[in-house]
Amino acid sequence: MGSLTSDDPIHVVLFPFMSKGHAIPILHLARLLLLRRLAAAVTVFTTPSNLPFVSRHLAGTLASAVSLPFPGDIPGLPTGVESTDALPSMSLFPAFATGTVLMQPSLEAELQRLHPRPTFMVSDGFLWWTLDSASKLGIPRLVFYGMSNYSMALSRAAGVENHLRGPTAEDEPFTLNAFPWIKLTKNDFERYFFQSLTEDNPQLEFIMKAMVATQKSNGLVVNSFQELESTFLDYWNRESGLGAWCIGPLLPLEHPVVGDPPLRTPWAEWLDRKRAGGERVLYAAFGSQAEIPAAQLQEIALGLESSGASFLWVIKRKESDIMADIDSGFEDRVSGRGMVVREWVDQRGILIHGSVQGFLSHCGWNSVLESLCAGVPILAWPMMAEQPLNARMVAEEMGAGLRVEAADGTVRGFVRGEGLAEAVRELMEGERGEAARKKAKEVAETARKAVEEGGSSWTALGTLVEEISRQRK
Ligand code: UDP
Repeated sequence: MGSLTSDDPIHVVLFPFMSKGHAIPILHLARLLLLRRLAAAVTVFTTPSNLPFVSRHLAGTLASAVSLPFPGDIPGLPTGVESTDALPSMSLFPAFATGTVLMQPSLEAELQRLHPRPTFMVSDGFLWWTLDSASKLGIPRLVFYGMSNYSMALSRAAGVENHLRGPTAEDEPFTLNAFPWIKLTKNDFERYFFQSLTEDNPQLEFIMKAMVATQKSNGLVVNSFQELESTFLDYWNRESGLGAWCIGPLLPLEHPVVGDPPLRTPWAEWLDRKRAGGERVLYAAFGSQAEIPAAQLQEIALGLESSGASFLWVIKRKESDIMADIDSGFEDRVSGRGMVVREWVDQRGILIHGSVQGFLSHCGWNSVLESLCAGVPILAWPMMAEQPLNARMVAEEMGAGLRVEAADGTVRGFVRGEGLAEAVRELMEGERGEAARKKAKEVAETARKAVEEGGSSWTALGTLVEEISRQRK
């Protein structure tokens, strides 16, 4: 393939990871690139069983979805599972991520077939091997992790300043020279950060591969906006040697997006009735990946029940089965005041419904952005990955939320129902909740400005396409 000339139409290739939280913002990026005519063509790679979800999100656009066969023989993985949301346990995550490398030959064959020739690729950090494929064909690769600048910067600083390895207790507070006002503990970070590189640890192994490939890539695409976390973005850009482009929030601030079905569901109607009655609703949901043990689910139910708040609680099928076993009378007891939903919902549609005035959330980064961009304050209850850092950012750095306190005071500890109920009441009716709500509304306004014409994210995306396209060989 020869080098790119100014006549070559821009063709952007996107390859999101096979989990909803990683895919949704990338699918929005596909839409943006076409809407703004920054690209003449966009191709999104996915796998057969993720194809319907991807196609639904691309409906009404000219983006193409190309499905690559997913390896059926990944050691330790049940066949037919093509998404981390469907894994029987998150302990299989490393096997899943590592197994995706078997898709490399089919990706390379498809990349060579594409017309017009791909100009650049944005692929998930967990698909580190896509860098090799892109490099072979002279295609620049940008990396997407779906994390905030805050969590990337703090993870980097904690590693560089050597706080994570060594004998310090996991709940012992420490601060970083780079960000002395932030009090952290080891518990704020994923466990693999504590482990030595020599340990036989599949998670650490694939994370290391991802990090090495990231460092050799052409930059990072970040689902955030400069005004939200400029201190952390500046740190990252100064220290990492790898430019981060803040082009978010990557979510449809105009809603519903083209192609979405209208929000006509039992819970939408229920929310309408709450709004008509002047009631404030707490939305409770913990994303697509978190695994909540039975005893903790029961405390959530207790907490929601005794908080006195109206609530809409989205649970997964597995959790629904557990609830049926441990507390089958819960829904009858809260009937009228609380609603439990057992399906995939339009979360953004719920968050922008005027009745929703608080979000009990695990602080997945998409959930954080969706909530704040709807002006809804967060009751932060982090469960895994970089969520503890997101929770700190929301509650302590921005003041747009409160924290759920664990009974033992640790970041990931067990939460009792009465503690949860008190935090819910404070968020929904208390002074601190009101202050957080005001802050969330300010963030929503800043986010809207960042993505409108001439805003920071708007401009960054245009510049990114221009600059990275020039790096095509
Ligand atoms: N989501 C949704 N409906 C659901 C559950 C989740 O639309 O029933 C979306 C949610 O709006 C968000 C994404 O799935 O965009 C979850 O991403 P997040 O980063 O919040 O959490 P994760 O699932 O990755 O832990």
